[in-house]
Amino acid sequence: MEFDLIELIRQRTAQSRDDVRLGMGDDAALLAVPPGQELAVAIDTLVDGVHFPHGSAAADIGWKALAVNLSDLAAMGASPAWALLALTLPTGDAAFVEGFVDGFAQLAQPHRLALVGGDTTRGPLTVSVAVHGFVPPGRALTRAGARVGDVVLVTGTLGDAAAGLHALQQPRRNDEGSSGPREFLLDRLNRPVPRLAAGIALREQAHACVDVSDGLLADLRHICVASGVGAEIDASLLPLSSALLGLHDDSTALHFALSGGDDYELCFCVPASRVAQVQADLARLGCGATRIGRIVAGEGVRVRGQDGAWLDIASSGWEHFA
Ligand code: ADP
Ligand code: MG
Repeated sequence: MEFDLIELIRQRTAQSRDDVRLGMGDDAALLAVPPGQELAVAIDTLVDGVHFPHGSAAADIGWKALAVNLSDLAAMGASPAWALLALTLPTGDAAFVEGFVDGFAQLAQPHRLALVGGDTTRGPLTVSVAVHGFVPPGRALTRAGARVGDVVLVTGTLGDAAAGLHALQQPRRNDEGSSGPREFLLDRLNRPVPRLAAGIALREQAHACVDVSDGLLADLRHICVASGVGAEIDASLLPLSSALLGLHDDSTALHFALSGGDDYELCFCVPASRVAQVQADLARLGCGATRIGRIVAGEGVRVRGQDGAWLDIASSGWEHFA
């Protein structure tokens, strides 16, 4: 049975690459890092009911398990090449594995990512994906390197995934079509798009970069700590989708955008002189980039509210909202 599942995974993820000397099927894969490139590696685990809602569609889980990893490569400015997949399944459910692998492959194929191996075990539904990508030596984007005076930007829109999770917990209204704001937000939750092209474009431009997986405040704080700086954000500048604003009042939308996780956008810092160029480049790549604040001396992240006063984001309601 397990062999059949592995064979099914192999067939549905077929992707030939010259740098895969030996792919799935042996005791280990043999891979050739192209000369003159550094290898960027990352791994993330998704646990049923923790990192995705219990009962999520198999294809959504497959997509997301890969997407969250590719988002880490995007944040480093790396181009993806290979992946490993460790699947822990409660039963040998071939229909689930088919759906899962189809969602995985849907995202893998356009990036020519090859699944080169993994492990299949029995237990509570858990998915680990490890990804490998290439980056020119010394050119990777890191969390360190932000400088006082840099402008802070973010791709796409923020808070959608948190609003999608909130929507899942509400009963669906009968009068809602399949293309309404609720569906948009659920799609943002279930099918995050890793900003790989943006990450590569930012390699020559940004001083620091992080992907927004735990929420803007938490992730921008990582840049601040790694770079030894502080950041000031303007709440009025945060990019919010019309779907988010259509379903929530301004204050709830702001909470989602600041503290909600799972958006997988890139937050990055560039010198002011490069902002226009970066915005033009990222607009061309389809995700756009919005300036939301700047890097300052000191530490921590402060948020200026609509009225110009600093928001009290340290009080618990902000960090643990929703
Ligand atoms: P081993 O006992 O040597 O670990 P396995 O039976 O676990 O071998 O796996 C056989 C082959 O199938 C290996 O090449 C392994 O990398 C691959 N494989 C197993 N499970 C998966 C999976 N979920 N995704 C991708 N490849 C897998
Ligand atoms: Mg094994």
